[in-house]
Amino acid sequence: MSEKLLEVKNLRTEFKRDKSWVTAVNNVSFDINEGEILGLVGESGCGKSVTSLSIMRLLARNSKISNGQVLLKGKNLLEKDNKEIRKIRGREVAMIFQEPMNSLNPCMRVEKQITEAILLHNNFSKEQAHQRAFDVLKSVGIPEPEMTLKSFPHQLSGGMCQRVMIAMAMSCEPELLIADEPTTALDVTIQAQILELMEEIRAKKNTGILMITHDLGVVAEMCNRVVVMYAGRIVEEAPVKELFADSKHPYTQGLIGSVPKLGSGVKSLPSIPGSVPDLSVMPKGCKFAPRCKYAMDICREQEPELHTIDKDGRRRCRCHLLDQNRKEA
Ligand code: SF4
Repeated sequence: MSEKLLEVKNLRTEFKRDKSWVTAVNNVSFDINEGEILGLVGESGCGKSVTSLSIMRLLARNSKISNGQVLLKGKNLLEKDNKEIRKIRGREVAMIFQEPMNSLNPCMRVEKQITEAILLHNNFSKEQAHQRAFDVLKSVGIPEPEMTLKSFPHQLSGGMCQRVMIAMAMSCEPELLIADEPTTALDVTIQAQILELMEEIRAKKNTGILMITHDLGVVAEMCNRVVVMYAGRIVEEAPVKELFADSKHPYTQGLIGSVPKLGSGVKSLPSIPGSVPDLSVMPKGCKFAPRCKYAMDICREQEPELHTIDKDGRRRCRCHLLDQNRKEA
């Protein structure tokens, strides 16, 4: 049986806006097993990226984690000092960002950027670090690793830069990889190659992957389980097949309903009306109520709890409709 790799427990992250603190991630708990790919989905502004930056301890200065634990193989990353966390980043947990061009240093050759991390985390000579950088570029399908090592990021295409980012992230063989919209900025062919590459890495190294995306196609193809976030909260969690076959939360149903299905012949797709609420003026009760076609009086008054809704404890949902059905059953 696979071991628990990451456990996020009751995470709360706030950031300062004007003179007050607003909550971007509210009491979020989930876990990832070794070799598992967990999808974290929701529209922009739902708290996905803040969750990942909280795990990595890479939050902006105006942010703080005010509650919770982030356990990586039982070690609470939130209790580590800056020096300890720098050692853990790269070595045990690494991140791939959406925009490789913004994440790579434009003034530094690829070789220096990759070998810096390798030298920091391993007792390697420069020659050994060079060899590792060469090998890791080759393993992500870069055809001319030696030439790429000598290049600056602006001399490479977007797809190549994303491969370099993945190579950097994988250079120290982390146990957990966090991928924040890793293919959004790429064209469809390159997207497919990058996803295939990540799956290969997972299969070879038993790496756990947190895949942050708003693309449900990526989720369906890659993930084992899915957590859906809305307004900084988890609203649903399920194994991927169950989520697509029988989603329970109206927000998840809206997301799935707005994905085009091949051959359906449908010309216009339903979209979820309205937009994600501003974090500083959240509605009372269920945060999705202003957009939900099933909203009842209780929804506008009382925030629903996140309940386990199956016998195996693999499905969770936050909705008064389900609570009512459960009571009536
Ligand atoms: Fe809709 Fe009410 Fe469920 Fe919220 S709690 S998703 S408003 S039915």
